[in-house]
Amino acid sequence: MKNRKLLMIPGPIEFEPKVLRAMGVVTTSHVAPNFIETFGNSLDLMKQIWMAPGGQAFIVSGSGTLSMDMAAANLVERGDNVLVISTGYFGERFKNILDRYGANTSILRAPVGEVVSLEAIEEELKNKSYKLLTITHVDTATGVLVDPKPIIDLAKKYDVLSILDGVCSVAGEEIKQEDWGIDLVLTASQKAIGVPPGLALLVASQKAMNVWENRKTPVQNYYADWANWLPIMRAYEERRPSYFGTPPVNLIAALETSLKIIKNEGVQNRVNRHQVLASAFRLAISALGLDILPVDDKIAANTMSAIYYPKGIDGAEFCAKVSEYGVIIAGGLLNEIKSTYFRVGHMGSVSPEDLISTLSAVEYALHKMDYKFDSGIGLKTFQEAIYSI
Ligand code: PMP
Repeated sequence: MKNRKLLMIPGPIEFEPKVLRAMGVVTTSHVAPNFIETFGNSLDLMKQIWMAPGGQAFIVSGSGTLSMDMAAANLVERGDNVLVISTGYFGERFKNILDRYGANTSILRAPVGEVVSLEAIEEELKNKSYKLLTITHVDTATGVLVDPKPIIDLAKKYDVLSILDGVCSVAGEEIKQEDWGIDLVLTASQKAIGVPPGLALLVASQKAMNVWENRKTPVQNYYADWANWLPIMRAYEERRPSYFGTPPVNLIAALETSLKIIKNEGVQNRVNRHQVLASAFRLAISALGLDILPVDDKIAANTMSAIYYPKGIDGAEFCAKVSEYGVIIAGGLLNEIKSTYFRVGHMGSVSPEDLISTLSAVEYALHKMDYKFDSGIGLKTFQEAIYSI
């Protein structure tokens, strides 16, 4: 890794060399037998990793926002009541998308760094009849992790469809789509799935597919319409050639490779690894005297951390110093408090060594900026936490 910096933002992340090499395969036709096999395997592997054996997987060229767009375009009709449960930036984005398709969208906003209470959600569902609700599993702007299960239980109790925005969580946080009864789980390739940006990935339940099939009005988006994509996914599942829009052949080769790596590690082992690294990292951050954005570590994500700059430290200068030491981190994203915090991604193939490098760079920047701390305390705390597990 000479002459290159370690990419520790919450997506895109550092990718496995094997995944990057897979992208370098000679580009084949999208109807070549070997590509059909790769696409079909990827769909099968997605259902295993999402833990939704009876679900319908979709792989479409686009980013995570297309996954959200596809969910909204296919499941919403003009005038439908939809509830967005927001823990920051990406809940607002979902509301904008849903509004665009004519939904009558209500939004429950958590205070910064907190989650919406179950009582508030139940109150809302009791008082108004909703067709659909959306949850951001990990809001990448705040690093807040929502426990989706009790919310899904409420959705089932009130007969409301559920969508989980898992862009910053699938393959890094626990999700049991079928067992929990989530109707749609969506993500993108560039985060914990471990593939360069460019793929929108979704798994829909049979119930969600039935709701789409029984629409009274056509889907208001041509590219996102499942009527165009479902026959293609079915064909690849059955290892038959087909065409709607040319798939990103090389990215899908990388996807198959990464999904196999995830499967070989085991989804639960992978989630546990994320948990261990996240908690050791945050112990180190707190030993340095820095505060995290989520109000309680219990609602802090395993895939990333959002951390306040210490008082008196200029954020732009801090991030530049961290980069000088060879590590790239991200600044804040939530408009109201953007300049007060930074974000570190720790997902996918992230290792203790990556986090040691990151903590070294953080200590270096703090030291250069005359912040008073016990030099090495972050690294020592991290190492001790890792050894004790
Ligand atoms: N939802 C969440 C939770 C995200 O973190 C992101 C991307 N950071 C998106 C949606 C949108 O994904 P993309 O940037 O790939 O369009």
